[in-house]
Amino acid sequence: MHALEITDLTKVYDDGTEALADLSLVVPDGGFHGLLGPNGSGKSTLIGIVTGLVRGPAGHVRVFGHDAVADPRRARTLVGLAPQEVHLDRFLTAREVLSYHGRYFGMQKADAEARADELLAAFDLEGKAGTRPHRLSGGMRRRLLIARALVHRPRLAILDEPTAGVDLELRQDLWKYLSRLRDEQRTSILLTTHYLEEAEALCDRISMIQGGRIVAEGTVPELIDRFGGPRLEDAYLRVMRGAAAGVGS
Ligand code: ADP
Repeated sequence: MHALEITDLTKVYDDGTEALADLSLVVPDGGFHGLLGPNGSGKSTLIGIVTGLVRGPAGHVRVFGHDAVADPRRARTLVGLAPQEVHLDRFLTAREVLSYHGRYFGMQKADAEARADELLAAFDLEGKAGTRPHRLSGGMRRRLLIARALVHRPRLAILDEPTAGVDLELRQDLWKYLSRLRDEQRTSILLTTHYLEEAEALCDRISMIQGGRIVAEGTVPELIDRFGGPRLEDAYLRVMRGAAAGVGS
């Protein structure tokens, strides 16, 4: 069974904007999938639909076989979202940020606290359990946000630009944690990023999206082979220019 299976997904907002048009995408169980595209291409809309925040699309979305359009609440429990913006309650400690999130997802207090401790350790934040988020470094805050997405043991993690605005050194440090998500937490991952080298380093497959449509899909070597390299960035620019010119893939 696939972690995420999206079939012919179309979303038209009330003002008539068609944000997604017949989009199909599969993230296999255990996959690390990149979703790359310029601003306004439909990434947030897609994530919003999978997490039940954007309603009323046409088409099918299945999260481990559960229909996320018909029953968004059930699908939501299978998904962990690390959102783009860092909103962390300044009155909670790092440990409480995690355990409260678990409670929100219906975990028993003891289980949520044990899971919080496990994740603090996994993300090298044990020493910061009692620290409030605004007293953490930028990199630690990002780690806490990713850890929070995992508290309720989702089988699919959606990471929305988890390293945006972080300097290169710190970003590479975060990559180590993102790889561990799959290897140690056994989570399937959908990642959006504007850093092409990040997608190249982490993802086993990549979908490029523009104008609400998938304009290219494949492994990094396949995309480079098909659209030109030497880096994924070169292939990406080719695809986007081609798509903008209406050439398609
Ligand atoms: P991305 O995340 O790739 O930047 P979005 O999903 O945010 O793309 O946006 C896709 C398209 O849908 C854009 O044209 C955007 O302006 C439009 N859009 C996004 N949210 C809304 C909304 N609530 N109402 C109307 N249009 C929207």
